Amino acid sequence: MSSKRDYYEVLGVQKGASTEEIKGAYRKLALQFHPDRNKDPSAEEKFKAISEAYAVLSDEEKRKRYDTYGHVGADEAFRGSEANFEEIFRDMGFGGFRDIFEQMFGGRRGGFGFGEDLFGFGGRRKGRDIVYDMELALEDVLKGRKEEVEVPRLGRCDNCGGTGAAPGTKARRCTVCGGQGQTRRVYSQNRFSTFVTMEPCKTCQGRGQIIERPCNNCRGTGRARQTKKLKLEIPPGVEDGMALQLSGEGEVSEQGIPGDLVVRLHVKPDTRFERLEDGHLLSNLDVKFTDLALGTELHIPTLEGSEKLKIQQGTRADTILRIKGKGLPRYGRSGRGDQLVKINVRVPGKLNDRQKSLLKELDRELDEG
Ligand SMILES: [Zn+2]
Ligand SMILES: [Zn+2]
Repeated sequence: MSSKRDYYEVLGVQKGASTEEIKGAYRKLALQFHPDRNKDPSAEEKFKAISEAYAVLSDEEKRKRYDTYGHVGADEAFRGSEANFEEIFRDMGFGGFRDIFEQMFGGRRGGFGFGEDLFGFGGRRKGRDIVYDMELALEDVLKGRKEEVEVPRLGRCDNCGGTGAAPGTKARRCTVCGGQGQTRRVYSQNRFSTFVTMEPCKTCQGRGQIIERPCNNCRGTGRARQTKKLKLEIPPGVEDGMALQLSGEGEVSEQGIPGDLVVRLHVKPDTRFERLEDGHLLSNLDVKFTDLALGTELHIPTLEGSEKLKIQQGTRADTILRIKGKGLPRYGRSGRGDQLVKINVRVPGKLNDRQKSLLKELDRELDEG
């Protein structure tokens, strides 16, 4: 494709750049445009372009071909280059190459997103957390909420039980790393000390085992796209911004370790009630001047229906009345808050002649009294 930009230009390096310079340039740009980080819609295109450029220029063979023939013949850039990406992404703390490209080209996930990658001890990586955002009304906070959700995820392959080996066959332990998935590399050694790093075993790609006949459902990865039904149970009294964590219900990593499902709770603002501390709710009530002057009994809307509220004769405007126990439950504690009702006086805008004369008469009467 001749409309493609020059790979060196895409990565912002010179024609004669060293492998290290190319890697450094890619790392920098990938950090900037990786779709997990950069939500700008143009970021994906840029990320694809720099990844393609890197796939070619980081591979000696491909680079030579590209230098000689240009873009022609470099279209299969990604094939055989995954190891490079895996390594570079892992170093940066992103998910694997396959994941990110599936995410970019494959189906979108609706309300689901991903959390940060987590690294376990010794380089055994936990799968990604899946983040699910849930909106709650105050009624849900009052009673709690049960909901069944379908979580799309990369889970353990059902066909092979996550081993990656075709059913009926077995994976063999990797003899290079002894099944550990990692190898020791001695950097320098003297009489007093040895500097050693652990790195993923190259023979088994860190899996600790060699699969001779890969499962055809997951192509030997042990992981497959699936939709898992989960029952979520939100307890009463939760606050906006809280998160519910379901251990082990996230994505499964290449090493077979699952991440978590994190349900982030968003309590919607309510026009009827303002949520105060300690489970108290505040509502506003407009009443007539005469209701306050004479006293009355009114029906007040509550979260569950309505409650009778007695207004004493001579109640002042802006008084706050309290309906005990009609607020929200308190998370992790017993009891409920109260509903506080602020009394506002409604002054009539228009009066007919009779209303006017009655008020004037009352006015005179009050002056004299
Ligand atoms: Zn499988
Ligand atoms: Zn190995």
